[in-house]
Amino acid sequence: MLEGKTALVTGAGRGIGRQIALTLAAEGADVIVNCNASCEQAEKTAEEIRKLGRRAEVLQASVADFQACGDMVKKALELFGHIDILVNNAGITRDNLVIGMKEEDFDAVIDTNLKGTFNTIRHLYRNFMKQKSGRIINLSSVSGVLGNAGQANYAASKAGVIGLTKSVAKELASRNVTVNAVAPGYIETDMTAAMSEDAKKAVISQIPLKRVGRPEDVAALVAFLAGEGGAYITGQVISVDGGMAI
Ligand code: NDP
Repeated sequence: MLEGKTALVTGAGRGIGRQIALTLAAEGADVIVNCNASCEQAEKTAEEIRKLGRRAEVLQASVADFQACGDMVKKALELFGHIDILVNNAGITRDNLVIGMKEEDFDAVIDTNLKGTFNTIRHLYRNFMKQKSGRIINLSSVSGVLGNAGQANYAASKAGVIGLTKSVAKELASRNVTVNAVAPGYIETDMTAAMSEDAKKAVISQIPLKRVGRPEDVAALVAFLAGEGGAYITGQVISVDGGMAI
């Protein structure tokens, strides 16, 4: 159980982040619900968390903006006094083959997915060091593990998240802070909604468990890593992908 813990979940207005926030709250955590553009939806996430009897506050910041992340962390610590669990969930795609990929689409994906993960970790680093406890959980992807044609920017950002995760795990282990990455496969959210039925069928044929994933599948793993069961796990990349990366 996560009673007495506070979690900061980035991009928690919708999709996987929303489900992670709700699952952590159901396990007993208070939650800082970060959003960038979907702050009305984030308010709804926060409302649902309050109905579970937990505290929730919405804080807007683009994770890609180093200063804005710093302001968000400062405000969160003022409001809650401590942050025990950081979930770097915010992420975007700008898919294209490299031949057609614009420089700004490469930069935007790296800035949000990789630098965004660095930004929140950087601003909470001292907090975790002083606290001598904490859990950092970063969303990577099967694309970051295997690579994916049409996703060079995204796969590079998610592979970068793995390197960042392992390095920070080594840096913070002596402070009793665990740092892990979860690597989802195909999860049904807005991110994957644009796919045609044929493309979806082709993906499912590559999934040994023969179904797409749900946000709940990812949130259950995040909650496990955040809880007592995750105490002796650090620097790992754990797939939640129906077997796609086998
Ligand atoms: P969605 O597109 O459904 O949601 C993306 C979330 O990220 C939104 O809450 C969005 O918030 C937030 N976000 C995007 N940019 C920023 C930003 N600059 N600052 C703060 N928040 C931001 O994606 P999913 O829920 O599917 O994905 C969540 C994570 O899981 C991502 O990191 C993704 O890469 C990863 N993942 C997803 C997979 C899938 O199949 N769905 C597979 C593998 C990994 P807002 O609307 O407020 O901007």
